[in-house]
Amino acid sequence: MRRTWKLYIDGKWTEGGGGTFDVLNPATEEVVAKAPNATRADMERAIAAARRAFDEGPWSRTTPHERAAVITRLIAALEKRKEDIRELLVTAAAAEHVGHPIQVDMPYSFLANYAELARSYHFIEMLPVLVSETPMGTHVNNSMVYHQPVGVCGLIPTWNFPFFVTVQKIGPALATGCTMVIKPSPYMPLLDLLVAEAVAECDLPPGVFNVVTGNSPELGAALVDSPQVDKISFTGSAVTGKRIMAAAASTLKRVHLELGGKSAAIVLDDADLDQVVPYASSPAFFHAGQGCAMCTRVLVPKPKQDALVERLDMFLTNVVSIGDPADPAVMLGPVIREERRQKIEEYIASGKADGARLTTGGGRPKDKPRGYFLQPTVFADVRNDMRIAREEIFGPVLSVLPFGDLEEAVRIANDSPYGLGGAIYSADTAKALEVAKRIRTGTLNINSALNLMHLPFGGFKESGIGREGGRWGMDEYTEIQAITWR
Ligand code: NAD
Repeated sequence: MRRTWKLYIDGKWTEGGGGTFDVLNPATEEVVAKAPNATRADMERAIAAARRAFDEGPWSRTTPHERAAVITRLIAALEKRKEDIRELLVTAAAAEHVGHPIQVDMPYSFLANYAELARSYHFIEMLPVLVSETPMGTHVNNSMVYHQPVGVCGLIPTWNFPFFVTVQKIGPALATGCTMVIKPSPYMPLLDLLVAEAVAECDLPPGVFNVVTGNSPELGAALVDSPQVDKISFTGSAVTGKRIMAAAASTLKRVHLELGGKSAAIVLDDADLDQVVPYASSPAFFHAGQGCAMCTRVLVPKPKQDALVERLDMFLTNVVSIGDPADPAVMLGPVIREERRQKIEEYIASGKADGARLTTGGGRPKDKPRGYFLQPTVFADVRNDMRIAREEIFGPVLSVLPFGDLEEAVRIANDSPYGLGGAIYSADTAKALEVAKRIRTGTLNINSALNLMHLPFGGFKESGIGREGGRWGMDEYTEIQAITWR
């Protein structure tokens, strides 16, 4: 793979005014590459280019079919780079092979879906003709609702599922005719530059697609503050999401926030524990627990807690292999950075101090002196007022909370500042559906059904505002205009 990287601004590759910064491999702690470090002036150039490309066209005035064709070309250009994308995801995002269907493959299907949505979305909705009798005569009024592209989009994706998250933003932005400036996470800046390389082959007008990488939060803030930017779509923590929303108030721009979660899986009394375990244990190993919608709280009837915890321990200790994600057999890789590992360890200490019972893991694997590894960790007897039950840990740590009756389970599941994901395990789907409707979260799966790409994804409460995916994702990138004529 290429070893020198540049910013992509106004259709040209340019050096970052701030030199470069290191991108690390979390499994080896080695430097993978040097990423261009942009300055505020670079960001302002990119914003100006996106503004000009939107206001002067022709991109924002293309037909939906032309935009669908561009997305289709982009899929082909990305296909040529699929192994580079995979390598980058493995070395810089520590993406374990077990997750590659989501990390590497699914974004292509998403893009194909956005090409289809560009064609099928109702950019124009005709309303019934209204005939009004007035003292001045009979008026025949025609009307339509036109979904205009929202304009210049500031896109701030995150590092944990970087290709997936980027595509969920650029897909609808391209499909609706927006222009964009992408500001990737400093942990994972190169993926978006690789996407820009593919975009550069797709005959898009200069300025439609810009990528500005850097390691200063000031770059994201410059996008949020700019009166030239019409919308921000941010994926990250609730803390930063709140800052962005407050800052965006000064220009009243549209804010789309995909934030964190502390989702609950409810194991109903009739669930088969052996079937539950491979799924319910996943937040303690899958991508090292670094997933926003993972069910990091498992609620189980009190008499079944010990049986569940015993099975979780058996699975996590005997089945889950820890190591460098470059090895396809590895199921649990490192967390993204040392500072994140230390924060997770603070949570583990707080769980112990608060009286939760550590039943699996809790430390660093002894045979991994390098890399930001942690053991899969499970706490039992967790109360919902403990920090490990309330705050997003973003590491391989699972909390098991015993409950008395179903009412208590629903109360505990909803007693969270977050509302992103959720799960119910039960032999009785109809009963589970009734419970599902009472849970205040943006998504919920019963018996580990997949959340498919045509569905909306997003959060209630502090998990965010807005939805990505399907036609709901398209709505987020349009402004509604009512036009009447006679
Ligand atoms: P974070 O909140 O630390 O965000 C970091 C990003 O925000 C960086 O790009 C940084 O430069 C930028 N930033 C910081 N301050 C800013 C400001 N004032 N204005 C604009 N930009 C600013 O989040 P993270 O650690 O990178 O990501 C992990 C979080 O992402 C977790 O909470 C996880 O749940 C969430 N997440 C959510 C989804 C979802 O779809 N809901 C998906 C994946 C991850």
